[in-house]
Amino acid sequence: MPRVFKFGGALLQNAEGIRRMAALVNEFQCEPMVVVVSAIGKTTNALEELYRLSRAKNKEQLQQKYFQLKHQHLMLAEELGLQDFETFIHTMEEDFRKLWDALSVSYRDWYKGYDQIVSFGETFSGRIIEGFLASQGIPVHLVDSQCLIITNSRYTNASVNWEMTQKSINARVVPALEKREVVLTQGFVAADQLGVTTTLGREGSDFTAAILAYVLEAEEVCIWKDVPGLMNADPRLFHDAVKLPHVSYNEAIELAFYGASVIHPKTIQPLKKKGILLKVCSFFNPQSEPTLIDADESDDARIPKLIVKKNQALLSISTRDLSFMAEESLKKVFTALSKNRFHINLMQNSAVSFSVIFDENIEKLEKISKELSDSFILKYNTGLELLTIRHYNDELIDNLSAGKHIFLTQKTRTTIQLLLQPEVG
Ligand code: ASP
Ligand code: MG
Repeated sequence: MPRVFKFGGALLQNAEGIRRMAALVNEFQCEPMVVVVSAIGKTTNALEELYRLSRAKNKEQLQQKYFQLKHQHLMLAEELGLQDFETFIHTMEEDFRKLWDALSVSYRDWYKGYDQIVSFGETFSGRIIEGFLASQGIPVHLVDSQCLIITNSRYTNASVNWEMTQKSINARVVPALEKREVVLTQGFVAADQLGVTTTLGREGSDFTAAILAYVLEAEEVCIWKDVPGLMNADPRLFHDAVKLPHVSYNEAIELAFYGASVIHPKTIQPLKKKGILLKVCSFFNPQSEPTLIDADESDDARIPKLIVKKNQALLSISTRDLSFMAEESLKKVFTALSKNRFHINLMQNSAVSFSVIFDENIEKLEKISKELSDSFILKYNTGLELLTIRHYNDELIDNLSAGKHIFLTQKTRTTIQLLLQPEVG
């Protein structure tokens, strides 16, 4: 039963990080293992920017940013001192040429174009890491994730076709593992049944690792992180954040759902189905105890967990004719939200108004306003903060909301959510 390792882009942003990851792979390579990697550093963001510039036909900036990205990758490869450097550079040049060609296409479907461009980040990182692991004498076998993870054609957020994915993983990964090769593949990127590139949603590499683990019935998945493990709050926002030694799959699903950015929300379900242990491990201190995630729920209520989502928008929708916000009007609203790919973080309705909270996005707000303003009155607030507390207590709620204006509250037995106006300054 293999082990699946996943390394995110933040860990691979420089030569030192890549050397460290290779050392970890080396340590475990006597057992069958699959390694999933994300794009290096902030490459995915850079590619998003390139796509935006190409659509805006801003040739000058596009070229400048493209060369910057290319330079970064080539410098990294050079610093790593890859063997057979000339051949390697030739391949990278080819990849970058393909990216340039893709940037010149005017895609009719924005989402499809997005996937064709941003997926290059993982193509580049896959190549560099393959080259480096090989130069360290590790028997690495790169399998293109587009041949492994087969999805539908819902670009930017594709759904897995499990049957086809299972077949391709069994055909391409299992034989390599049997030969004791370290299988390397790209996270986040997949392909539809026609072979057109799709992606699984931002930060989706965790999910790729879970898909592979599920099909291969892995012993465990280790997500390597630049934090000590799964924390009860974002340490950048709460200096007293602590590491959670153990949580259940269900608790992890809830945390991811409410926006804890440590694990991609879709990751846990496949692992839970097969009872595969998930470890969140410290990249910089690999000997320390990781957070363990499994079926046991006994520790879940022990430590309260805080999740803050910043830059939230509150959209309040009411009918123009003052009729109730009931099934028919809600249907219209939901259709428009789904068409414009809104991801709702919280919703609430009263007799005459329906409120949705989502990550601020002015473009989407404008689109939906246009679409619904015939039948509805729309009002919105932006710059809000959504605070979720799992296993809350009154003291915590008072402390965290003191002096802030509360727009909206929602409470269940285990969870409270507060929409707050953050303090200025
Ligand atoms: N590179 C992709 C992203 O930044 C996927 C990932 O990192 O998991 O969203
Ligand atoms: Mg990434």
